[in-house]
Amino acid sequence: SKTIDQIAAGEVVERPSSVVKELVENACDAGATAVTVEIKDGGTSFIRVTDNGSGIETAQIRKAFLRHATSKIRGVEDLSRIHSLGFRGEALSSICAVSMVELITRTKDSLVGVRYCIEGEREADFSEIGAPEGTTILVRDLFYNTPARKKFLKTPATEGGYIADLMEHMALSRPDISFTFQINRQTRFSTSGSGDLKEVIYRIYGREIAKEIFPFEASDNGFSVKGFLGSPQLVRPNRNFEFFFVNNRYIKSQVLSKGLESGYQAYLMQHKFPMAYLHLQIDTEQVDVNVHPSKMEVRFSDNRRVFDFLEEQVQKALHDREM
Ligand code: ADP
Ligand code: MG
Repeated sequence: SKTIDQIAAGEVVERPSSVVKELVENACDAGATAVTVEIKDGGTSFIRVTDNGSGIETAQIRKAFLRHATSKIRGVEDLSRIHSLGFRGEALSSICAVSMVELITRTKDSLVGVRYCIEGEREADFSEIGAPEGTTILVRDLFYNTPARKKFLKTPATEGGYIADLMEHMALSRPDISFTFQINRQTRFSTSGSGDLKEVIYRIYGREIAKEIFPFEASDNGFSVKGFLGSPQLVRPNRNFEFFFVNNRYIKSQVLSKGLESGYQAYLMQHKFPMAYLHLQIDTEQVDVNVHPSKMEVRFSDNRRVFDFLEEQVQKALHDREM
Protein backbone atom coordinates (compact mmCIF):
# COMPACT_ATOMS: atom_id res chain seq x y z
CA SER A 1 0.00 0.00 0.00
CA LYS A 2 0.98 3.61 -0.33
CA THR A 3 1.25 4.12 3.41
CA ILE A 4 3.59 1.21 3.83
CA ASP A 5 5.68 2.44 0.90
CA GLN A 6 5.92 5.84 2.51
CA ILE A 7 7.00 4.38 5.84
CA ALA A 8 9.60 2.21 4.10
CA ALA A 9 10.73 5.27 2.17
CA GLY A 10 11.36 7.08 5.44
CA GLU A 11 14.09 4.64 6.32
CA VAL A 12 16.03 5.35 3.17
CA VAL A 13 15.01 8.94 2.51
CA GLU A 14 15.38 10.96 5.64
CA ARG A 15 16.26 14.24 3.98
CA PRO A 16 17.43 15.66 0.63
CA SER A 17 21.02 14.59 1.25
CA SER A 18 19.88 10.94 1.51
CA VAL A 19 18.42 11.20 -1.99
CA VAL A 20 21.64 12.65 -3.33
CA LYS A 21 23.69 9.95 -1.61
CA GLU A 22 21.65 7.12 -3.11
CA LEU A 23 21.61 8.62 -6.60
CA VAL A 24 25.33 9.36 -6.63
CA GLU A 25 26.14 5.87 -5.37
CA ASN A 26 24.01 4.42 -8.16
CA ALA A 27 25.90 6.56 -10.67
CA CYS A 28 29.22 5.31 -9.32
CA ASP A 29 27.97 1.71 -9.35
CA ALA A 30 27.01 2.20 -13.00
CA GLY A 31 30.64 2.89 -13.83
CA ALA A 32 30.24 6.63 -14.42
CA THR A 33 33.41 8.64 -14.88
CA ALA A 34 31.55 11.94 -14.61
CA VAL A 35 28.71 12.83 -12.26
CA THR A 36 26.92 16.16 -12.02
CA VAL A 37 24.70 17.06 -9.09
CA GLU A 38 22.44 20.11 -9.19
CA ILE A 39 20.19 21.21 -6.36
CA LYS A 40 17.78 24.05 -5.68
CA ASP A 41 16.26 25.14 -2.37
CA GLY A 42 18.47 22.81 -0.40
CA GLY A 43 17.32 19.91 -2.53
CA THR A 44 13.70 20.17 -1.41
CA SER A 45 12.33 21.40 -4.73
CA PHE A 46 14.96 20.10 -7.14
CA ILE A 47 17.70 17.47 -7.23
CA ARG A 48 19.19 16.37 -10.54
CA VAL A 49 21.94 13.80 -10.86
CA THR A 50 23.45 13.20 -14.28
CA ASP A 51 25.93 10.45 -15.02
CA ASN A 52 27.72 9.00 -18.05
CA GLY A 53 27.49 5.43 -16.78
CA SER A 54 25.96 2.29 -18.24
CA GLY A 55 22.40 3.58 -18.52
CA ILE A 56 19.41 1.34 -17.81
CA GLU A 57 18.09 -1.04 -20.44
CA THR A 58 14.56 -0.19 -21.53
CA ALA A 59 13.19 -3.53 -20.34
CA GLN A 60 14.71 -2.95 -16.88
CA ILE A 61 13.50 0.58 -16.25
CA ARG A 62 10.15 -0.15 -14.59
CA LYS A 63 11.72 -2.92 -12.58
CA ALA A 64 14.40 -0.62 -11.19
CA PHE A 65 11.67 1.37 -9.41
CA LEU A 66 10.10 -1.63 -7.70
CA ARG A 67 10.95 -2.39 -4.11
CA HIS A 68 13.80 -4.82 -3.56
CA ALA A 69 14.71 -4.60 -7.23
CA THR A 70 18.45 -4.66 -7.50
CA SER A 71 20.53 -5.71 -10.44
CA LYS A 72 23.62 -5.91 -8.29
CA ILE A 73 23.35 -9.33 -6.68
CA ARG A 74 24.40 -12.13 -8.95
CA GLY A 75 25.60 -15.22 -7.11
CA VAL A 76 24.67 -16.71 -3.76
CA GLU A 77 28.12 -15.69 -2.66
CA ASP A 78 26.95 -12.08 -2.86
CA LEU A 79 23.90 -12.49 -0.65
CA SER A 80 25.73 -11.95 2.61
CA ARG A 81 27.20 -8.80 1.21
CA ILE A 82 23.93 -7.17 0.19
CA HIS A 83 23.54 -5.19 3.35
CA SER A 84 27.16 -4.40 3.84
CA LEU A 85 27.37 -2.87 0.38
CA GLY A 86 24.06 -1.08 0.53
CA PHE A 87 22.55 -2.98 -2.40
CA ARG A 88 19.06 -3.23 -1.06
CA GLY A 89 17.15 -2.25 -4.15
CA GLU A 90 15.17 0.24 -2.10
CA ALA A 91 16.49 3.62 -3.11
CA LEU A 92 14.59 4.34 -6.32
CA SER A 93 11.32 2.88 -5.01
CA SER A 94 11.63 4.89 -1.81
CA ILE A 95 12.46 8.11 -3.61
CA CYS A 96 9.51 7.86 -5.99
CA ALA A 97 7.16 7.16 -3.07
CA VAL A 98 7.84 10.65 -1.69
CA SER A 99 8.60 12.83 -4.72
CA MET A 100 8.06 13.43 -8.43
CA VAL A 101 10.69 11.58 -10.43
CA GLU A 102 11.84 11.94 -14.02
CA LEU A 103 14.39 9.53 -15.44
CA ILE A 104 16.16 9.86 -18.77
CA THR A 105 18.49 7.05 -19.67
CA ARG A 106 20.30 5.52 -22.62
CA THR A 107 22.62 2.55 -22.84
CA LYS A 108 25.55 2.40 -25.23
CA ASP A 109 23.86 -0.15 -27.47
CA SER A 110 20.67 1.80 -27.77
CA LEU A 111 20.14 4.42 -30.47
CA VAL A 112 17.53 6.31 -28.54
CA GLY A 113 16.94 7.05 -24.88
CA VAL A 114 13.86 6.65 -22.71
CA ARG A 115 12.08 9.18 -20.56
CA TYR A 116 10.22 7.67 -17.62
CA CYS A 117 8.20 9.76 -15.17
CA ILE A 118 6.56 8.76 -11.93
CA GLU A 119 4.27 11.29 -10.32
CA GLY A 120 2.13 10.51 -7.30
CA GLU A 121 3.50 6.97 -7.54
CA ARG A 122 1.87 6.63 -10.97
CA GLU A 123 3.60 6.25 -14.27
CA ALA A 124 3.14 9.59 -16.03
CA ASP A 125 5.35 9.02 -19.05
CA PHE A 126 7.29 6.25 -20.74
CA SER A 127 8.51 7.44 -24.12
CA GLU A 128 11.49 7.59 -26.43
CA ILE A 129 13.68 10.63 -26.32
CA GLY A 130 17.08 11.67 -27.64
CA ALA A 131 19.61 11.42 -24.84
CA PRO A 132 23.32 11.12 -24.22
CA GLU A 133 24.67 7.82 -22.94
CA GLY A 134 24.09 7.47 -19.22
CA THR A 135 21.37 8.40 -16.79
CA THR A 136 19.76 11.57 -15.49
CA ILE A 137 17.40 11.43 -12.56
CA LEU A 138 15.43 14.52 -11.56
CA VAL A 139 13.69 14.51 -8.19
CA ARG A 140 11.20 17.30 -7.55
CA ASP A 141 9.03 18.29 -4.59
CA LEU A 142 10.52 15.97 -2.03
CA PHE A 143 8.03 14.94 0.71
CA TYR A 144 5.13 16.65 -1.12
CA ASN A 145 2.87 13.88 0.22
CA THR A 146 4.38 13.51 3.69
CA PRO A 147 3.96 16.92 5.36
CA ALA A 148 5.16 15.67 8.74
CA ARG A 149 8.48 14.70 7.26
CA LYS A 150 8.69 17.94 5.34
CA LYS A 151 8.15 19.94 8.50
CA PHE A 152 11.02 18.13 10.15
CA LEU A 153 13.50 19.47 7.58
CA LYS A 154 15.81 22.32 8.43
CA THR A 155 16.19 25.48 6.35
CA PRO A 156 17.20 25.16 2.67
CA ALA A 157 20.61 26.58 3.58
CA THR A 158 21.16 23.88 6.20
CA GLU A 159 19.86 21.05 4.01
CA GLY A 160 22.01 22.37 1.15
CA GLY A 161 24.96 22.38 3.54
CA TYR A 162 24.45 18.69 4.30
CA ILE A 163 24.45 17.97 0.58
CA ALA A 164 27.59 20.06 0.09
CA ASP A 165 29.36 18.06 2.84
CA LEU A 166 28.23 14.82 1.24
CA MET A 167 29.43 15.92 -2.20
CA GLU A 168 32.82 16.87 -0.81
CA HIS A 169 33.15 13.44 0.77
CA MET A 170 32.08 11.73 -2.44
CA ALA A 171 34.59 13.70 -4.50
CA LEU A 172 37.38 13.02 -2.00
CA SER A 173 36.52 9.33 -1.85
CA ARG A 174 36.67 8.93 -5.63
CA PRO A 175 39.33 11.21 -7.15
CA ASP A 176 39.05 9.03 -10.27
CA ILE A 177 35.52 10.33 -10.95
CA SER A 178 34.85 13.85 -12.16
CA PHE A 179 32.24 15.49 -9.93
CA THR A 180 30.47 18.77 -10.56
CA PHE A 181 28.27 20.24 -7.87
CA GLN A 182 25.88 23.14 -8.41
CA ILE A 183 23.61 24.96 -5.99
CA ASN A 184 20.97 27.22 -7.53
CA ARG A 185 22.83 27.10 -10.86
CA GLN A 186 26.13 28.18 -9.35
CA THR A 187 29.00 25.74 -9.52
CA ARG A 188 30.37 25.08 -6.04
CA PHE A 189 33.17 22.84 -7.17
CA SER A 190 34.23 20.66 -10.01
CA THR A 191 36.89 17.96 -10.02
CA SER A 192 38.64 16.54 -13.07
CA GLY A 193 38.55 12.82 -12.33
CA SER A 194 42.31 12.59 -12.88
CA GLY A 195 42.69 10.35 -9.84
CA ASP A 196 44.85 12.87 -8.03
CA LEU A 197 43.57 13.34 -4.47
CA LYS A 198 45.57 16.50 -3.99
CA GLU A 199 43.83 18.08 -6.94
CA VAL A 200 40.46 17.28 -5.37
CA ILE A 201 41.57 18.86 -2.09
CA TYR A 202 42.74 21.91 -3.99
CA ARG A 203 39.48 22.23 -5.92
CA ILE A 204 37.32 21.92 -2.84
CA TYR A 205 39.31 23.52 -0.05
CA GLY A 206 41.53 25.89 -2.01
CA ARG A 207 45.14 26.72 -2.27
CA GLU A 208 45.80 27.67 1.35
CA ILE A 209 44.95 24.20 2.54
CA ALA A 210 46.45 22.35 -0.41
CA LYS A 211 49.86 23.88 0.18
CA GLU A 212 49.90 22.92 3.87
CA ILE A 213 49.62 19.19 3.33
CA PHE A 214 52.23 16.58 2.50
CA PRO A 215 51.91 13.06 1.10
CA PHE A 216 51.73 10.14 3.46
CA GLU A 217 51.81 6.46 2.62
CA ALA A 218 52.33 3.36 4.74
CA SER A 219 51.36 -0.26 4.98
CA ASP A 220 51.74 -3.01 7.50
CA ASN A 221 50.17 -6.46 7.96
CA GLY A 222 46.84 -6.13 6.17
CA PHE A 223 46.48 -2.35 6.52
CA SER A 224 47.50 0.28 4.08
CA VAL A 225 47.02 4.00 4.16
CA LYS A 226 47.64 6.62 1.54
CA GLY A 227 46.81 10.30 1.41
CA PHE A 228 47.89 13.59 2.91
CA LEU A 229 48.67 14.89 6.36
CA GLY A 230 48.52 18.52 7.39
CA SER A 231 51.62 20.21 8.64
CA PRO A 232 51.55 20.32 12.47
CA GLN A 233 51.66 24.12 12.33
CA LEU A 234 48.25 24.19 10.75
CA VAL A 235 46.10 23.17 13.67
CA ARG A 236 42.33 23.06 13.72
CA PRO A 237 39.90 23.75 16.54
CA ASN A 238 37.88 20.58 15.84
CA ARG A 239 37.88 17.32 13.90
CA ASN A 240 36.24 18.74 10.79
CA PHE A 241 39.43 18.44 8.79
CA GLU A 242 40.09 14.82 9.62
CA PHE A 243 38.85 12.82 6.64
CA PHE A 244 38.93 9.05 6.56
CA PHE A 245 37.95 6.80 3.67
CA VAL A 246 37.90 3.10 4.32
CA ASN A 247 37.84 1.02 1.16
CA ASN A 248 36.71 4.12 -0.74
CA ARG A 249 33.89 5.09 1.60
CA TYR A 250 33.87 8.21 3.71
CA ILE A 251 33.50 7.25 7.34
CA LYS A 252 33.80 8.74 10.78
CA SER A 253 35.73 6.77 13.34
CA GLN A 254 36.82 7.49 16.90
CA VAL A 255 39.51 4.84 16.60
CA LEU A 256 41.04 6.41 13.50
CA SER A 257 40.74 9.95 14.87
CA LYS A 258 42.40 8.98 18.14
CA GLY A 259 45.15 7.06 16.37
CA LEU A 260 45.84 10.01 14.10
CA GLU A 261 45.79 12.54 16.93
CA SER A 262 48.01 10.34 19.04
CA GLY A 263 50.52 10.29 16.19
CA TYR A 264 50.56 14.09 16.26
CA GLN A 265 50.74 14.27 20.05
CA ALA A 266 54.31 15.53 20.24
CA TYR A 267 53.47 18.39 17.87
CA LEU A 268 50.02 19.59 18.89
CA MET A 269 48.70 21.40 21.91
CA GLN A 270 45.76 19.91 23.74
CA HIS A 271 42.35 20.49 22.19
CA LYS A 272 43.90 21.12 18.82
CA PHE A 273 43.37 18.81 15.91
CA PRO A 274 45.37 17.92 12.83
CA MET A 275 44.33 17.92 9.22
CA ALA A 276 44.30 14.66 7.32
CA TYR A 277 42.87 13.13 4.16
CA LEU A 278 43.49 9.43 4.47
CA HIS A 279 42.43 6.55 2.29
CA LEU A 280 42.73 3.25 4.12
CA GLN A 281 42.53 -0.13 2.45
CA ILE A 282 41.67 -2.83 4.92
CA ASP A 283 40.89 -6.49 4.28
CA THR A 284 37.14 -7.02 4.29
CA GLU A 285 37.55 -9.66 7.03
CA GLN A 286 38.99 -6.98 9.29
CA VAL A 287 36.30 -4.35 8.77
CA ASP A 288 32.54 -3.98 8.55
CA VAL A 289 31.96 -0.70 6.72
CA ASN A 290 28.21 -0.53 7.08
CA VAL A 291 26.92 -0.91 10.56
CA HIS A 292 23.94 0.85 9.00
CA PRO A 293 24.02 1.60 5.26
CA SER A 294 23.05 5.24 5.69
CA LYS A 295 25.49 5.89 8.52
CA MET A 296 29.13 6.65 8.03
CA GLU A 297 30.32 4.18 10.58
CA VAL A 298 32.79 1.39 10.54
CA ARG A 299 33.55 -1.52 12.83
CA PHE A 300 37.04 -2.96 12.97
CA SER A 301 37.61 -6.49 14.17
CA ASP A 302 40.58 -5.25 16.18
CA ASN A 303 40.46 -1.59 17.23
CA ARG A 304 43.79 -1.71 18.98
CA ARG A 305 45.63 -2.84 15.89
CA VAL A 306 44.12 -0.09 13.79
CA PHE A 307 44.89 2.54 16.39
CA ASP A 308 48.49 1.36 16.82
CA PHE A 309 49.07 1.20 13.08
CA LEU A 310 47.92 4.75 12.47
CA GLU A 311 49.58 6.24 15.54
CA GLU A 312 52.90 4.64 14.71
CA GLN A 313 52.91 5.46 11.02
CA VAL A 314 51.82 9.07 11.53
CA GLN A 315 54.43 9.56 14.23
CA LYS A 316 57.07 8.18 11.91
CA ALA A 317 55.98 10.35 8.99
CA LEU A 318 56.06 13.52 11.07
CA HIS A 319 59.42 12.59 12.52
CA ASP A 320 60.91 11.77 9.09
CA ARG A 321 59.62 15.04 7.74
CA GLU A 322 61.53 17.01 10.37
CA MET A 323 64.80 15.29 9.55
P1 ADP B 1 20.38 -0.83 -5.61
O1 ADP B 1 21.35 0.28 -5.90
O2 ADP B 1 20.41 -1.26 -4.19
O3 ADP B 1 20.49 -1.96 -6.60
P2 ADP B 1 18.38 1.14 -6.30
O4 ADP B 1 16.94 1.27 -5.95
O5 ADP B 1 19.31 2.21 -5.85
O6 ADP B 1 18.88 -0.26 -5.78
O7 ADP B 1 18.49 0.98 -7.88
C1 ADP B 1 17.77 -0.05 -8.51
C2 ADP B 1 18.46 -0.48 -9.79
O8 ADP B 1 18.32 0.54 -10.77
C3 ADP B 1 19.95 -0.73 -9.68
O9 ADP B 1 20.22 -2.06 -9.24
C4 ADP B 1 20.42 -0.48 -11.10
O10 ADP B 1 20.26 -1.64 -11.89
C5 ADP B 1 19.47 0.57 -11.62
N1 ADP B 1 20.04 1.92 -11.57
C6 ADP B 1 19.75 2.88 -10.67
N2 ADP B 1 20.42 4.02 -10.91
C7 ADP B 1 21.18 3.78 -12.00
C8 ADP B 1 22.13 4.57 -12.76
N3 ADP B 1 22.41 5.84 -12.44
N4 ADP B 1 22.71 3.97 -13.83
C9 ADP B 1 22.42 2.70 -14.18
N5 ADP B 1 21.55 1.91 -13.50
C10 ADP B 1 20.94 2.43 -12.43
MG1 MG C 1 21.32 2.12 -5.07
